[in-house]
Amino acid sequence: MKKWISILLALCLLLALAACGGAEQNTPAPTEAPAATEAPATEAPAAETPAPEEPALWTREGFFGDENEYMLSVTWMEDVEEPGWYVGCMLGEDWSEDSWGGILPQEGNSLKGALPTTGSRDPLTVTLTEEGADGLMMEVEGGETYHFTPRDIPKATIFVTINVEGGGIIDYAEGEEAPESAPEYPFQSAVINLAEPKIHTFAAWPKAGNLFVKWTKNGEDLSADAQITLLLDESADYIAVFEEDPDWQDPVLAHAGDYQCGRAHAQVTSFGEGRAFIVVEWGSSAWELTRWILVGELDTETGTIRYTDGTKSNLTYDDSGEATEEETVYTDGTGTIVFNGDGTFTWHEDQSGNGEDMVFERIPASGIDYLALVNKVNPLPEGWEDALETVATTNSVGESVEVEAKAYAAYERLKDDLEQNDGVYLELDSARRSVAAQQDIMDRFIEKYGADYAAKTVAQPGYSEHHTGLALDLYFKIRNEDGSFTDVYYNEDMEKEEYRGIWDAIHAKLPRYGFILRYLEGEEHITGYRYEPWHIRYVDSVSIAGEIMSQPGYTLEEYLAGKSAPEAEIDLSGSDLYTEQELTDAMLAIKCKFAAWGVCELHAIRYAGDEANSAENLEWLNTLNEGADYTQVAEFLMDFHTAPDAGGAWEQDLEYTDWQWWLARTQDGGWEIVTNGY
Ligand SMILES: [Zn+2]
Repeated sequence: MKKWISILLALCLLLALAACGGAEQNTPAPTEAPAATEAPATEAPAAETPAPEEPALWTREGFFGDENEYMLSVTWMEDVEEPGWYVGCMLGEDWSEDSWGGILPQEGNSLKGALPTTGSRDPLTVTLTEEGADGLMMEVEGGETYHFTPRDIPKATIFVTINVEGGGIIDYAEGEEAPESAPEYPFQSAVINLAEPKIHTFAAWPKAGNLFVKWTKNGEDLSADAQITLLLDESADYIAVFEEDPDWQDPVLAHAGDYQCGRAHAQVTSFGEGRAFIVVEWGSSAWELTRWILVGELDTETGTIRYTDGTKSNLTYDDSGEATEEETVYTDGTGTIVFNGDGTFTWHEDQSGNGEDMVFERIPASGIDYLALVNKVNPLPEGWEDALETVATTNSVGESVEVEAKAYAAYERLKDDLEQNDGVYLELDSARRSVAAQQDIMDRFIEKYGADYAAKTVAQPGYSEHHTGLALDLYFKIRNEDGSFTDVYYNEDMEKEEYRGIWDAIHAKLPRYGFILRYLEGEEHITGYRYEPWHIRYVDSVSIAGEIMSQPGYTLEEYLAGKSAPEAEIDLSGSDLYTEQELTDAMLAIKCKFAAWGVCELHAIRYAGDEANSAENLEWLNTLNEGADYTQVAEFLMDFHTAPDAGGAWEQDLEYTDWQWWLARTQDGGWEIVTNGY
C-alpha cells in the first residue's frame, strides 16, 4: 500500500512537472488538483479522456507493472500545450530518484522519445511497444528492456489532495503524530489515497516573506489555523493559501556585502526566500584560486546559516590571468556561517583540514559607480565625494594614503597574494586626491607661473581618475639579503628593465582582485596618458577586470564605449591611407568624447573618406590648434539622437545626421580631436 502511494505521488509530481512545462523548484504548485488525481480510477479512464484529434494508432493505456514491481503508467494528456501520451515510470524503489515521466511522440505503432526526471539522474530515451494482448515492452536506449503487464490500483475509498496557493509548504502526518517535514515533495501536490477513514494532521508553513491565510476545502473556507487535524472520511481537495507579507524585508540584506579574512574574500548576497548566497575565494598559490559557493537559509534569531551541498573548486589561471581549469573538490560541503552582530561573521567548514574557524570582517562599500569613467574629457560624477567611503593607511616612506574602502580591501588581498606567492612587496604611493586638493595645486601654479603654464602642467581639477579613490599608484620594495628592504619608489627607477618581471607578476594578478592596468603601452591616444605600469584602477568585478585585461591593448574607455553603444553602426571602410586599427583608434577617441556629452544616443559613425586629408584641411586644423604641427587629417561623420531633456545648444529629441568630427595627428602620434560640429 505504502509503495502505491509513493508511486502515485511520483507520477503525480511528474505530471505536475509536465503540466507546467518543467516548473522551477520555487514555483507554487497549480492550485487545482493535478491531473493525476484522476488516474487511480480503475474503470477504463479512456472513456473519459478526449480522443486525440487524429485517430492515433496507440491505444494502450493504464497502469502496468513488471516482475520487479517496477511501474509504468500511460495516460492521454489533454491539458498541456501539445496534447499527447504521457508516460511515467518508476524503475526502482526510491520514487524521488527512480521516476521519469513525459509526453512521448508516437512513431508508427510505438511511443518513442526522452523522459525527463524530477530526480538528479539523466533522462531516459525509451521506446514503448505493445506486447501480447494487453502488455507493454519498454526498451531503454543503452539499457535494459522491461516487460510490463496491466495492474490494478487498490480501490480508493477516500482520495485527498493537498496543495498550496502562494508561498508556503505543507507538513502532514498521520494520526496523532507530530507533523513531519516532507522536503521531498517539491511541488507540494500531494495525494493521499486511503482505504479507510483516518485522522490526519496538516500544518501549513509560510516561506520567508509570506503569511499563512487559510485552509480551504473544495474551494470553501475551512480554517484560519495553520495546523488542522481532520477525520478524512470523504474525497476532497485541501488547499493552504498563503499571501506575500507586505512588511517583510529580506533579513539577508542586512548582512549582504563584501567581507574579508586575510587573503580570503567573501561576498554575501540574497538568494531570495530568506536564503543567502555566499561566495568565498582564496588565492591558494601563485596561479590557483579556491572558490566555495555556499547557499543556506538565515536563522534570524541566531544569525546563523547552516548550509548543505556547498561546493568547493580549484581554479587554475594562466599567465594572462584567465582561468583555464576548474577542478571540483566537493559538492556536498556542510558547515555554518554565524553573523556576530559586529560586522563580522564566523565560518565553520565541517570539511576544513585544520578544523579552524575563519572570522571575516565586513568591507564598507561606497555608494559609487565602480565603473565610472574619469579622464581628461570625463569629469568626476556629481555627488561622488559625498558617497565615497575611504580608508587611510601609511606607506613605507611614511606618507598617508587614502583609498576607497572596497578598493583598499582588494588591494590588501592582492598585496598579500603577491608577497606569499611571488615574493613581490607592494606599496601604495598615492591613491585618492580630492578635487579641492587638485584645485589648491592649480591655484598655486597659476599664482606662481601664470594660467597658461598651469593649464599645461597640472591636471584639471575634477578630471583626474585619482579623485575617484579607485586609482592606485603602486611602488614596490626589494628584499635585501640581510632581510631589510629597499624602496623602489621613483618612476624612472620603477621603469627600469630589470623590474619588468615584477610588473608582469603584479599585472597578471590584477583582474583576480578586480583591478585593471589603466594606462597601457601604445594606447595614449585613448587614455590620454602615457604608459604607467604603476597606475591601477579598481572596477569591483573579477569578470569585468578579466575581460578587459585578457585582451591586449584593451582600455577601460573601449570597454565602456562598447557597453554604452552596442547598437551603433560603425563603418570604417574606404581608406587607402589608414589601416583599420588606425581608424578604430580614431573612432574610439570620438566615442569617448561623445559619451561625455551624456545627452545623446549614438546611431552611427562613418569614415568620411581619404579626400579629407587635403593640404587645405591640414592648414585649417593647424590654425585651429595654435602651435600644432599636424601632418595628417581624418574626418568622420556621426548620426545621433538628442535626449528629450537635452539642454544647452542642442535641439531636444532630434536626430542629427552627418555631424562632422575632425581629427589630426603628427607623424606617428596619436589622433587628437581638433573640432567637431556641422
Ligand atoms: Zn596615477
